[in-house]
Amino acid sequence: MSRIEFKDVRHAYPPAAGQAPVYALKEVSQVWEDGGAYALLGPSGCGKTTLLNIISGLLTPSEGSILFDGREVTNLPTTERHIAQVFQFPVVYDTMTVFDNLAFPLRNRGMPEPRVRERVVEIAAMLDLSDRLKQRAAGLTADGKQKISLGRGLVREDVNAILFDEPLTVIDPHLKWQLRSKLKELHQQIGVTMIYVTHDQVEALTFADQVVVMHDGAVVQVGSPIDLFNEPKHTFVGYFIGSPGMNILPCRLEQGQPVFANNLLSSSYPVDTDLSGKLEIGIRPEFVSFCDDGIPVEIQKVEDLGRYQVVTVKHEAEQIKMLVGEDQAIPSSSPHIQFDPGNLRIYRDDWAVGPGNA
Ligand code: ADP
Ligand code: MG
Repeated sequence: MSRIEFKDVRHAYPPAAGQAPVYALKEVSQVWEDGGAYALLGPSGCGKTTLLNIISGLLTPSEGSILFDGREVTNLPTTERHIAQVFQFPVVYDTMTVFDNLAFPLRNRGMPEPRVRERVVEIAAMLDLSDRLKQRAAGLTADGKQKISLGRGLVREDVNAILFDEPLTVIDPHLKWQLRSKLKELHQQIGVTMIYVTHDQVEALTFADQVVVMHDGAVVQVGSPIDLFNEPKHTFVGYFIGSPGMNILPCRLEQGQPVFANNLLSSSYPVDTDLSGKLEIGIRPEFVSFCDDGIPVEIQKVEDLGRYQVVTVKHEAEQIKMLVGEDQAIPSSSPHIQFDPGNLRIYRDDWAVGPGNA
């Protein structure tokens, strides 16, 4: 097991003829602690797989270095890194039995057969594959094959880390939930560093203790699910985490307080009035409410989600989403809204400013 460290890692894939290189990873400097459950979360194309392949050694970064427990591994081949990696789509040997597929990584490393058997039986039980061990992998559904892939990732006990690259993409929704809980349970049992890549915030927030949010080739914030919800350091984190995401609205400043469309607001996070750049406020839909005397709005849409209603309102050109309890009335004439000052954040050029921020 290992602590994983990235030092100024950047990566550009070879550019098309005559074009300048584009950095798929812009600059990553991070320390991920030994035994942690991490999720790498971000939209498609933001560089998650690139970073994962740099950890396992499938890819050598164009710049920077990677260390396991303080030891440089940047140029070590995959076989010497002792990393298990589970890919998005099943990697199984169709002609082998389920048993032999699971045993493969162990036999490959010369583990004595009785121990192989013990370990395979244990992992198969965890993944509900016990009654399939004698079947050939070819006969299994996509779900079943992906469970074998997961098993092959989990079976070795001598790994520094286990990497999962969107491993539940091909799994049906019900089983997905089950497998995710199982992975979390397993992490608690075996305590090996696990890095779980996903574009789905629910998957990331339920699996991980620490979520690494990536955007456009860079890590924008690392934090617990609660940190990311309460203190988004970047507008992208505010917008990407939460359902619906944070409202991000243009503002200017007057005496350290934000002014949104000529409405002077109050924020418990006052900032320097001289700030230049693109200024915005961030307010989560949870902290917007109707009131008698605030910002006048027009109601555009009400979606009933059971315990909550998502209400979309508009003030001048700006749309604002709010979460309203099921038993709360929506005003029928001249609605006004207010923002909770304690949860109003100010962003400059997409980065949070004010107390606790740079
Ligand atoms: P993610 O896993 O977050 O979807 P990737 O790491 O796969 O993102 O890709 C990051 C960026 O690098 C994307 O713009 C993608 O098109 C580009 N990219 C990925 N793999 C290659 C490759 N082999 N050659 C060239 N560009 C690539
Ligand atoms: Mg990917």
